[in-house]
Formats: sequence, structure tokens, C-alpha cells
Amino acid sequence: MQEFIVLQCFNCKVYQVHIVKKSSKWRCKLCNAKQSIVKIFMKSESAKECRVIAQELNEKYIKHAEELAIALWSETKNTPIEEPGTKGTNSDNQGGILK
Ligand SMILES: [Zn+2]
Repeated sequence: MQEFIVLQCFNCKVYQVHIVKKSSKWRCKLCNAKQSIVKIFMKSESAKECRVIAQELNEKYIKHAEELAIALWSETKNTPIEEPGTKGTNSDNQGGILK
């Protein structure tokens, strides 16, 4: 009986279903990165079951990534930004090298 596993790519972080092989090496279906099996998120004889889990994990990961992006965005929003006009004006150059 064939078995299927759910794996996550270290590179693009996408969860995907693979058939269990003797080799511990696998290649990402999306970014083609070759890697070894680090963690099996799901193991089943049903490919359909694995696909459902992989989809759920991907949705969860996307949600998490979005939350992280929002957190990072609000962080950068709160950092003080230099006021425009204090830098790069022509008056700065007037005391410099002028022939
Ligand atoms: Zn990948």
C-alpha cells in the first residue's frame, strides 16, 4: 500500500503531499529545491486526506505570514521618520567645495 506524507519546503515554506519513498531526499514541487525530510506533518494511505491537511497548513501559514507582515508594518510605522526638508537641500552644499 502506497503511503503519502505532508512535507514543508524549507525554501518557499509551502506544504505539499509526497509519496513515501525509500530515499529521505525530496524535491519541492514549487521551487524545485532539493532537500531531506526534516519533519513529516501528516502520514496517510489516502492522498486526499494528505492534500486536505496540506491545504489547511498552507492556509494557516499564509494567515500567520500576513499577521507577521502586519506586525512588522505597524512597527515600522511607529518608528520616527526624519522630517522631510532637513536633508538634501541646496543650502547644505553652500559651505562645501565651491570654486
Ligand atoms: Zn519550495
